[in-house]
Amino acid sequence: MDICIFCKIIDKKIPAKIIHEDAEFLAFHDINPQAPVHVLIIPKKHIPSINDITTDDELITAGLYRLAQKLAKELKVDQSGYRLVINNGPAAGQAVAHVHLHLLGGRAMHWPPG
Ligand code: AMP
Ligand code: ZN
Repeated sequence: MDICIFCKIIDKKIPAKIIHEDAEFLAFHDINPQAPVHVLIIPKKHIPSINDITTDDELITAGLYRLAQKLAKELKVDQSGYRLVINNGPAAGQAVAHVHLHLLGGRAMHWPPG
């Protein structure tokens, strides 16, 4: 069975520029950054998409945002501003089927997003 690419990063089977790791979460720089700061924050639990979140995952979903807040401060974009994005499903461009929060900052963001 194929293991998803983010699970492989969690298992250290493939490398990534990891900036945070704890028992529940991992954060690493996006391999194809779309902004000066572009970090992915993922739960270690394999959850394919937001559609699959259940009440059991409430600590995980809250923790993703709490960690985003901490990393935005460490990466010095907390005051200038940053965007948190979760792409869900094909029309939104979700490419990796493991829930991940994009933390983007370091430049002005446009709205509406593309
Ligand atoms: P999404 O389109 O929301 O599913 O985002 C997937 C993101 O994962 C993209 O921004 C990719 O650049 C990023 N990505 C894919 N493979 C890797 C990898 N091996 N290391 C770091 N980021 C990756
Ligand atoms: Zn996974």
